[in-house]
Amino acid sequence: MAACKFIAFLKKQNGCFDFKIFKKDYLVQLSPNKTSISYHASPNDTAFLFRDSIVANLALNEYFYQDVHEVSSFNYFCQLLEETELGITNENQIARLTLLLHVSKSLIDDQVLWDNIFQIIPTLEIDDQIEFIFKNDLIDLFNGIKSNQKIVRKINQTIISIIGLQEVKFDYSSLKIKFFKFSISELNGFAGLDCVYIGIDAIRRFVCELRQDFDNEQKLKIFLINMFRLIIHEICHVALRKVVKNFNASSPTLITQRKQQSNSDSFKKNAQIFEAGVLCEKIFFSERIDWALSSKSTRFNFAYCENFFEKLLSKSEAELPQFDFNKSGCIRDTSKFLFMAIDYSRKIQML
Ligand SMILES: [Zn+2]
Repeated sequence: MAACKFIAFLKKQNGCFDFKIFKKDYLVQLSPNKTSISYHASPNDTAFLFRDSIVANLALNEYFYQDVHEVSSFNYFCQLLEETELGITNENQIARLTLLLHVSKSLIDDQVLWDNIFQIIPTLEIDDQIEFIFKNDLIDLFNGIKSNQKIVRKINQTIISIIGLQEVKFDYSSLKIKFFKFSISELNGFAGLDCVYIGIDAIRRFVCELRQDFDNEQKLKIFLINMFRLIIHEICHVALRKVVKNFNASSPTLITQRKQQSNSDSFKKNAQIFEAGVLCEKIFFSERIDWALSSKSTRFNFAYCENFFEKLLSKSEAELPQFDFNKSGCIRDTSKFLFMAIDYSRKIQML
């Protein structure tokens, strides 16, 4: 309903549109609250619900409706809503709606960036057949993570700390990895319904920017460590949403609620990191690490990181080692959060 109203509204506008007017005149009869997205048996049917939720989320997002926006930047969004009116028919539609659902809750404080993202959405295309450097190693890593009980336990531990349940029931074996092309290579990946989306252009850029004096084997290791970080981060978002049975859940909200109920000091301390994926990265690596930057630093201890990573992936039942951040010589990723469930490199903020 909200999607349908938005199409009608946008078609009447010229040049710029004021979403506050749409919110006040059109959306007010509909649910003003954030909608919950429950899971249907088919991802296509679940993704169909994203259409209304994106519009409803935008109406609740002051960062979005505070400014007027260019009609032309939203033409494709309208087209996407129209072409999916009777249902979702392909992977690209699911991926584009998924990314927009995350974007609709973002903290972007810049009208141009909002408009640019909506404008370039049609450049997002799923392509699982495309070849790129280290592709097979990446697929092996993804399968290794899913089937490694020690790793799965740590991700579950993150989710338990956020929602306060005793156990997490999530079928990690059903997770898929999907590759996408996109016009901005800074988009590393994002969380899907039952999958993790990974950007091919971001992979190429990451590998290209690695130190030239690294040999291929060293480049592969750093690449895989960074992919490990990205995969566990996004899997945490995917699993968390599935466990709370709401794909429109936001980890900052869940964490704030839990913080208010919790008596544990350590949880309160960790909850300062207000995003589930980052909390998960910290559980594995003590800090949120910028691996591209770290590998360029003279303090970077490659041997230590490589050894830690081997232990992380080993199938032995020994508990996972504690990552020693100081010894690693790594550099923290201190960039500000604009997006939930989306992983991107710093430059995206300057788009
Ligand atoms: Zn995240």
